Amino acid sequence: MMRARRRREITIETHQIVAVRGRERAQRESVFCQHCAGKSEMLTIQDAARVANVSQRHLFRQVETGALHSVETPDGQLSVCLNSLQG
Ligand SMILES: [Zn+2]
Repeated sequence: MMRARRRREITIETHQIVAVRGRERAQRESVFCQHCAGKSEMLTIQDAARVANVSQRHLFRQVETGALHSVETPDGQLSVCLNSLQG
């Protein structure tokens, strides 16, 4: 289980930009964002920072001001809404 999960994370890192730009794939699951009141995709702060090419610190500030939608996952990780990330 751990092994499979690790491999998936590596795959996401490698193909992330292509996946987001090209809209191929379905690695991330679409979820309901209560802020958008609609469907979105939630990214980890790390992934979001890479996708948006900004620092994680910058993203945390956006979360604080409410500019960036966020949810806390059951395991305590902060996820941000891709819709709000792209404006
Ligand atoms: Zn949202």
